Amino acid sequence: MIQEIPNADILSTARRILALGPICDSCLGRQFAMLSTGLTNVERGRSIKTVLTIQASAADDKALQEELAPSFLSARLKLGRKDEEDAQCMVCLGEMSPQNLQRWADKAIEAQEEWEYSTFLVGTRMSGLLAENEELLLADGGSTHAEPFKSELNREVGKRIAGKTGKQVALKNPEIVFHLNLSEGEVDLQIASIYIYGRYRKLIRGIPQTRWPCRICKGAGCPRCLGTGRMYQESVDELIRPAVLVAALASDTTFHGAGREDIDARMLGSGRPFIVEAVRPRRRSIDLVQLQEEINRQSAGKVEVSKLEMVGCDVVEKLKKATFEKTYQALVRLGSEVPEEKLKSVLTELVGSIDQRTPTRVSHRRADKLRVRNVYSADLNEASGRSVRITIRGDSGLYIKELISGDGGRTLPSLANSLGVDAVVEELDVINVGGESDGTSSWNAKEDKR
Ligand SMILES: [Zn+2]
Ligand SMILES: [Zn+2]
Repeated sequence: MIQEIPNADILSTARRILALGPICDSCLGRQFAMLSTGLTNVERGRSIKTVLTIQASAADDKALQEELAPSFLSARLKLGRKDEEDAQCMVCLGEMSPQNLQRWADKAIEAQEEWEYSTFLVGTRMSGLLAENEELLLADGGSTHAEPFKSELNREVGKRIAGKTGKQVALKNPEIVFHLNLSEGEVDLQIASIYIYGRYRKLIRGIPQTRWPCRICKGAGCPRCLGTGRMYQESVDELIRPAVLVAALASDTTFHGAGREDIDARMLGSGRPFIVEAVRPRRRSIDLVQLQEEINRQSAGKVEVSKLEMVGCDVVEKLKKATFEKTYQALVRLGSEVPEEKLKSVLTELVGSIDQRTPTRVSHRRADKLRVRNVYSADLNEASGRSVRITIRGDSGLYIKELISGDGGRTLPSLANSLGVDAVVEELDVINVGGESDGTSSWNAKEDKR
């Protein structure tokens, strides 16, 4: 059932508001914004003032005419005060005047000039004074159908920006947000990052995935790190970064990997999925083929990227949460020579579930707990004396070095334990992450099926 709102309610609320002081058409109309659509608040406010002026004339209500006069010309004419200007609005203090709305739009347009974007949104940071005025009006005027001041200002300035620039207002994931700072009189820009998905291969050992601050100085620079502030002078992140900064004219980048390999492990095969986030990009339309070539040229022999593709910010979280099966190749040194047949049969026995307590080598930074992980396949590639090369496919989070060595009994079963001889990983490579799928489209589809 539709709730009935008698005319008298609206007009008596409007009278109560007008008795508080001069009010512009916008601010009056905004008090009734929720009662009609397809009208601006200026139109609502003007209509109400018009009806009240006619009513005041018909009833010869001088008091009402006096209340209307400061903010309505028609009422002033009736009272013979045609030379007076509208008084300043007690609520917005002129902020909602057409000139002022245009001034905000012009400021925003000036601020956006060097940024490439197609969608935007306007937001308002209220000043204390205007917030208080709005509260008082709601409390004393008593309208229950008002729209917030901010919403109207955002919408009206947004319309003007869109009209001038041809850009689109987007409520969800806008590329730029114009914050109108009412106390400072300034427009602040909030720029959405862009997200470039891809896969990387790490062709050499000894570089970490991301920037790694020096343990001694925490990045400030000290003798240990030769003043660089870093434990390692290069990382996958830092090898990819320069070309992205240039292509997007960005102020920074953030690297998001789908898991990470050890510093001393290579990442081969089709590579590991990652997203590089370009922060505050001035340019959004990027030639990804050219970017890929440039990254690969600059990091030649160390890191290689492929399958670059633009994705939404939501994919970062999916990437972080996703778990991938991984395939490793390990070069293992045995304590003594073992016949090939025995090696093969022991490797077959390793397939299945493995109990792993937190490895000794990471126990200083991770809580000790028992994890159960699966080994899906374990194959011998070649054996040469005490040196053997094997390929293992297992769950995300399976510790390979410990699966081989047994870590003093903390991983069971293990290759060392089953063979009855010591076994140590000398070289480790990740040769595949995930299944056959490549790129986000198939990867997203896989995620959706869960
Ligand atoms: Zn106003
Ligand atoms: Zn240092």
